[in-house]
Amino acid sequence: MSPSDRLEILKSICNKCHNCALGNTRKNLVFGEGPIVPTLMSVAESPGAEEDASGRPFQGRSGKFYRQLLQAIGLNPEKDVYMTNVVLCRPPNNRPPEDEEINECINFLKKQIEIIQPRIILLLGRTAVKGLFPEYAKTPLDRLRKDSKNNQLIYQGIKTLVTYHPSALLRDPSRRIGAEEDFTYLRNILGKQICAVELI
Ligand code: URA
Repeated sequence: MSPSDRLEILKSICNKCHNCALGNTRKNLVFGEGPIVPTLMSVAESPGAEEDASGRPFQGRSGKFYRQLLQAIGLNPEKDVYMTNVVLCRPPNNRPPEDEEINECINFLKKQIEIIQPRIILLLGRTAVKGLFPEYAKTPLDRLRKDSKNNQLIYQGIKTLVTYHPSALLRDPSRRIGAEEDFTYLRNILGKQICAVELI
């Protein structure tokens, strides 16, 4: 069976999921989206209102900003990046997902990774790290950013890179210097020939 067929089957299983209470409040489950052979796979937290309404990841304000960050390093968000979340349904009032919700949903993320086999996974924020590396749930994010660059966060043989969640960058612009560092590093390991990275 082809990877796209396997993803379609997984998506239809996810769409029927009511393993946690979020299954009762969602408008749409937000399955991952992007090319089947991506340059990059990114994992964020959970859908917000716009994503819940449309059924598509990163449609709101932070999504727009995230797409700009990707474009700044020469990536086409639609053609190059497979985007997904640790939790596929929107938590009410945009609260962070609870541990139980992460535990119920994490196998859907792991299955997407197994099917897609990305070269690198960008982990956007703490919840993304917590999903794949529960042992680092309490480690400061700046430490994880550094450790991931030193290949200390490898998931099933796949390099992961930790950076801030785009919403955190919108909330606190002082973090953008660090994000610029991370995206420059990412551009370099992806081997893209871009002259400058300037993040808004
Ligand atoms: N925030 C997330 O973590 N994921 C989305 O898809 C949108 C906003």
